[in-house]
Amino acid sequence: MKTCDVCGNKIGLMNKFKYADGYICKECYRKASRQFTETIIQKDLAEIKELCNQELDVKSLENFEMTGRIGNYLLVDEKNHRICIPNNRMTNQKVDAPEFYDISNIKQCEIKIDPYMDLEELEKKVKIQRDESVMNYLTVQISTKDHKTKNIQLIDKPVRIKSYAFRQSFNFAKRIKEEINRLMTA
Ligand SMILES: [Zn+2]
Repeated sequence: MKTCDVCGNKIGLMNKFKYADGYICKECYRKASRQFTETIIQKDLAEIKELCNQELDVKSLENFEMTGRIGNYLLVDEKNHRICIPNNRMTNQKVDAPEFYDISNIKQCEIKIDPYMDLEELEKKVKIQRDESVMNYLTVQISTKDHKTKNIQLIDKPVRIKSYAFRQSFNFAKRIKEEINRLMTA
């Protein structure tokens, strides 16, 4: 049985649509052809995926009802049990499209730091404000049940633990983790 190159759904003789590199299903064809208004025969897989993702994001944004947020890092739609990670300029070098996750699809949420240390130990170092050591990165890592990993990057270059920037980022990281854990058990 053949499957769609974009979403992996089964495709048969009657519902397969050809593009430059292969075949996609009718639903993906609808997205990639912008509601059947454009041909896709000369588009490659990267272009097709891009078009399908755009459609998804627009649809997701429309249905997203923000009930809470943590800075510009995490938007929450508690009504529809979803979160949005805006991927804003502050957390990334480049601006990506916002990403949406169903809370039911989240497996775990952890704070990752480098160099590794116990989070309680880090907490103490942050509190005393005298520690000269440096953190190379600080990220909140979300793992999903379908084996995807998303990093919300708070620090991506070396910063002293005692600095205000680190303290603030560490507070955000803890709040993001707490909020996601709360939503997962709500
Ligand atoms: Zn498909």
